[in-house]
Amino acid sequence: MIGLGRFGGSLAVQLARAGCDVLGIDHNPRRVQRYADDLTHAVVADTTDVEALHQLGVPEFRRAVVGIGSDIEASILTTSLLSEAGIERIWAKAVNRQHGRILERVGAHKVVLPEHDMGERVAHLVTGRMLDYIEFEDDYAIVKTTAPGEAVGLPLGETRLRTKFGVTVVSIKRPGQGFTYATPETVVQRDDILIVAGRREQVEEFADRT
Ligand code: ADP
Repeated sequence: MIGLGRFGGSLAVQLARAGCDVLGIDHNPRRVQRYADDLTHAVVADTTDVEALHQLGVPEFRRAVVGIGSDIEASILTTSLLSEAGIERIWAKAVNRQHGRILERVGAHKVVLPEHDMGERVAHLVTGRMLDYIEFEDDYAIVKTTAPGEAVGLPLGETRLRTKFGVTVVSIKRPGQGFTYATPETVVQRDDILIVAGRREQVEEFADRT
């Protein structure tokens, strides 16, 4: 994990908790100190220095994440050095789409835009009835939402939600209970929470219904 800022630090700790061996690198000794107890190794180095990367054995790693954001030059240079070193899977954080495109060009296999993506996700949650929202590729999404009034009191098979909205109710949760698979016989109740899948505009339209 290169760059132990807010993004890189949380990601590195999460990976270490999940049982991965994590080498955290940052040129700021305070950042390294902060994560020293949580990671397998945490070292101070400038990752734009190819020699430093080799001394740390970085080319031996199968996966690397570049979490440097605001210093775009360092982010691009580090990503290209990791690519030249033959790392199998490089993830890189971008601060905007243009930065992301350059990272892909210099060898990042997967680019993430955490602030942009989180902004989009929160936008879905602050409007309408959505409680959670995950978007996949090709405009497909899964949302957690409350039940629309028109479905309450009816078995799912009779609500015709699929015909009307093109969405599929995957799972339902009653207050105080866990999620269960939804069947055509499941009767929707007022305070139920629904997990609904479908094309992005369709789940959005569904979740905007009161
Ligand atoms: P965040 O918003 O996630 O905190 P930042 O871009 O502010 O992201 O932080 C990135 C981290 O990357 C910082 O801790 C910074 O010290 C580190 N960093 C920046 N440039 C280099 C570099 N050349 N080598 C190693 N670490 C770097």
